[in-house]
Amino acid sequence: MDITLVIPLLNEEESLPELAAWIDKVMTENQFTYEIIFVDDGSTDNSWNVIEDLRKKNNYIKGIKFQRNYGKSAALNEGFRAAQGDVVITMDADLQDSPDEIPELRRMIVEDKFDLVSGWKKKRYDNTLTKNIPSKVYNAAARMMSGIKLHDFNCGLKSYRNKVIKSIEVYGEMHRYVPVLAKWSGFRKIGEKVVEHRARKYGVSKFGWRRFINGFLDLITIVFMGKFGKRPMHFFGLWGTIFFLIGLGFSIYLIISKLAFNFPLTNNPGFYMAMTAIIIGMQLFLAGFIGELVSRNATGRNSYLIEAKTGL
Ligand code: UDP
Ligand code: MG
Repeated sequence: MDITLVIPLLNEEESLPELAAWIDKVMTENQFTYEIIFVDDGSTDNSWNVIEDLRKKNNYIKGIKFQRNYGKSAALNEGFRAAQGDVVITMDADLQDSPDEIPELRRMIVEDKFDLVSGWKKKRYDNTLTKNIPSKVYNAAARMMSGIKLHDFNCGLKSYRNKVIKSIEVYGEMHRYVPVLAKWSGFRKIGEKVVEHRARKYGVSKFGWRRFINGFLDLITIVFMGKFGKRPMHFFGLWGTIFFLIGLGFSIYLIISKLAFNFPLTNNPGFYMAMTAIIIGMQLFLAGFIGELVSRNATGRNSYLIEAKTGL
């Protein structure tokens, strides 16, 4: 099968028939074999019935329905587990992403040998103040911290080599950082394509202003996990030791000056700073130690992606 489309959706009943028809038109024109996996992320409207009706007419259409709303990342993850196509393309269900981009997104994977191609909504049809400006700041931070040169990390329209999506796990709200997850797994050929962005035709956006706070916190998590996730002691242990030694050295100095020269000890601000440093140092050290115990018990601690083997 050439292409799998994974489409997460939450209450998008009006858009689905139009989207499915448009995709079908593009696929037929290009003679691609394909499947569409709609992942209904706990919709409370009629979306699931619409999907079942669409399937009756076209058996390339498949659906997964969550019992409740788990979030876009969970929906993508389930879709990825089920995807069979050589190229997997994700797309939002709200008609903001255009299916006309599919052939080029596929070509870049198949011919240009990209592992992942991310859409770039160069011209956006969203509110300038609440979306466009914050998104510029956020993308700049993500670029800097991840080292991946993408303009638009959070674009819903992306294409992947099948192996990439089978190797990564999208959880929490990490759908914003799939390129970073891919890079961790060793898929480094990440490309970008300017895509057409359209105004939302039906329904409303499912993410509010909180996306920026959550997105920023997730970015810190992902950078930290990438660097120290498997060896937390190297971070916490180092800083814990530094703080502890500074505090200890300073305390010794203060005690000696008290004993030898009768300098004030307890009514000296340095005394409290030294004590605090010792406490912070021990706390950091402990955090690192607990982190090591946790990562030692993590199920994925010894799973590695093997690209090839010979003689085995
Ligand atoms: N979505 C989802 N689960 C959620 C929130 C959103 O599956 O909890 C889907 C939504 O239906 C849409 C896509 O994710 O297909 C992108 O959401 P939306 O269009 O609301 O985001 P925006 O375009 O405003 O960034
Ligand atoms: Mg949208």
